[in-house]
Amino acid sequence: MQEILDEIAQTMAAEIDRGKVADYIPELSIIDANQFAMSVALPDGRVYSAGCAEQLFSIQSISKVFSLTLALGKLGDAVWANVGREPSGDPFNSIVQLEHEQGKPRNPFINAGAIAVVDAIMMGHEPKECLAEMLQFVRYIANDENIHIDDKVALSELSCGHRNASLAHFMASFGRLHHPVDKILGVYFHQCSIAMNCQQLAKSGLFLVSEGVNQSAGYRVVSAQRARRINSLMLMCGHYDGSGEFAYRVGLPGKSGVGGGILAIAPGKASIAVWSPGLDTIGNSKLGTLALEMLVQRTGWSIF
Ligand code: GLN
Repeated sequence: MQEILDEIAQTMAAEIDRGKVADYIPELSIIDANQFAMSVALPDGRVYSAGCAEQLFSIQSISKVFSLTLALGKLGDAVWANVGREPSGDPFNSIVQLEHEQGKPRNPFINAGAIAVVDAIMMGHEPKECLAEMLQFVRYIANDENIHIDDKVALSELSCGHRNASLAHFMASFGRLHHPVDKILGVYFHQCSIAMNCQQLAKSGLFLVSEGVNQSAGYRVVSAQRARRINSLMLMCGHYDGSGEFAYRVGLPGKSGVGGGILAIAPGKASIAVWSPGLDTIGNSKLGTLALEMLVQRTGWSIF
């Protein structure tokens, strides 16, 4: 495994077209696009890495997997009253579909859907309590107490969050949200600003590898059925309007973030985190996808 990862990192270092860092969030626009890291966590606890795997980055929309998992734990199937389970085929921050479906977002991984999930999790609590719970949950699944939120990134996003505010207000106009929009957005932006490195992120996905159990930590996080269902949503919706392309090229459930990270799950085999801040035109890590494509070719881990 180490040999494969070293070879991938070497190939990525030579890539010239690395995509463009997200420029609509000021704090992310200043990140150096020449960085690359990849970690593979195995169920027994071994973690293999290449590149700057201890460098922290903003996990952004990858956090939507964790907030969905938390929401399902708290509310069960009631979560699906206000968010669907279908691929959207639209960009992650699109508003158009909401108008056609009475403000109900297509899935929990587009921005509108993740905002609805935050609303569900809040259950009358204040943003601070809600964020503390979320952080505690992420630390629990990653089995790592050092994970924290990068407030600078959250405030940066808040300063220019007009699109997300419009999504939230639009949903609220259909009676879909049950808390004040500014409080929901405060939680959402902070959730997206969780900072992790590739090693931590890979470990956080282990419960999705082994039917809901983090084997190396020695505890069950969700039921086997729930883990399978979360994986299916990641496969269908985890890369927005690039989900089909990702399934075709990589063949694994995956979730991307505009910070340039991707979490991919090879069920029964490994949890993989990759980070390269340059994005393709859809907003998914360009080299991250390429690296996963190479890894799957070398390991045969495609689910197909
Ligand atoms: N925080 C980002 C936003 O709301 C998340 C988007 C993403 O990672 N695709 O725009």
